[in-house]
Amino acid sequence: MSKVNLASAATLRTPADLVAHGFASTADLPDLEKVAARYAVAITADMAALIDAGDPDDPIARQFIPSAEELATRDSESADPIGDHVHSPVAGIVHRYPDRVLFKLVHVCAVYCRFCFRREMVGPGKASALPPAAYDAAIDYIRAHPEVWEVILTGGDPLMLSPRRLTEVMADLAAIDHVRIIRIHTRVPVADPARITPEMISALKVKGATTWVALHANHVRELTSKARAACADMIDAGIPMVSQSVLLRGVNDDAATLEALMRGFVECRIKPYYLHHGDLAPGTSHLRTTLEHGQQLMRALRGRVSGLCQPDYVIDIPGGYGKAPIGPNYLSRADSSSQLNSFSREGEQQAETRYRVVDYCGDVHLYPPKS
Ligand code: SF4
Repeated sequence: MSKVNLASAATLRTPADLVAHGFASTADLPDLEKVAARYAVAITADMAALIDAGDPDDPIARQFIPSAEELATRDSESADPIGDHVHSPVAGIVHRYPDRVLFKLVHVCAVYCRFCFRREMVGPGKASALPPAAYDAAIDYIRAHPEVWEVILTGGDPLMLSPRRLTEVMADLAAIDHVRIIRIHTRVPVADPARITPEMISALKVKGATTWVALHANHVRELTSKARAACADMIDAGIPMVSQSVLLRGVNDDAATLEALMRGFVECRIKPYYLHHGDLAPGTSHLRTTLEHGQQLMRALRGRVSGLCQPDYVIDIPGGYGKAPIGPNYLSRADSSSQLNSFSREGEQQAETRYRVVDYCGDVHLYPPKS
């Protein structure tokens, strides 16, 4: 494995940086400049150190190194693939489901993922944080909606805020009686674990609300010893964690890789939560799998690891209709010839529906079984 020696701990932010560190060739520069003009580029030193520059199929590189394939946008792709805008009553708030809101505080991230579903909204050049008046209006909106039980801080990456600012935000939210859960979606513990300081952890804890952290990682190699230690520090401080991952072609779209990732999460005391099917973000078709392949992988995972290691495979329905679990389905109605006769309380014979249920080996059984 030819690891690149990063002389400094600087984040790589330009195609020229990538060429200088051996992650791209000079011949690629013109295309990569075009990609970088539209979509942000950033690879932290921690993530860059994981990349094998000699492996053209490296799963970490595939997530962060821009590609000319991003210049191809399909008609089905959209700048707002999951329909945030139609559910945004005020700047920074997405109120799609009755009991929870997304609160998009920042538009910057430690790394910029090539598959990001908010890629048109994040990065330098976009507003870096909600302006004070918009922030106040967002807090007022949450305060005026007593049905909001959970606030999900997302972005961008909320852990790009300073601990001081995060403390203020958490206090503002926890001061609202009906806000009981504050969930923070972040890639920082893997992308830049040094940011998870005692001050940051202290900022996450707040009286009056329970904090959950959802860690975004897609390959077990991202769970480095430093990342694992950062997560352990948060969990030891009493912050429960769940995972979210994106199913990505060439990164984690085989059963062994997914298995290793889910086992890694559970070893870190992080409950696997969501495996997202890749959203229809512009220029990302080369990273999406088919839905059928995703279902096959979930079926394979069911046969390889315990329920503790199972995420929900979900799709965000374009247009803002929310998430739907997409299987696979293990139950179907058996044909009528295998209906079971049973007796009602009154003693009348009646047909009882039989089902076909698939076990973890793929074998089909009748339920109830034939007597
Ligand atoms: S960290 Fe999240 S919001 Fe930021 S680029 Fe990656 S997927 Fe997008």
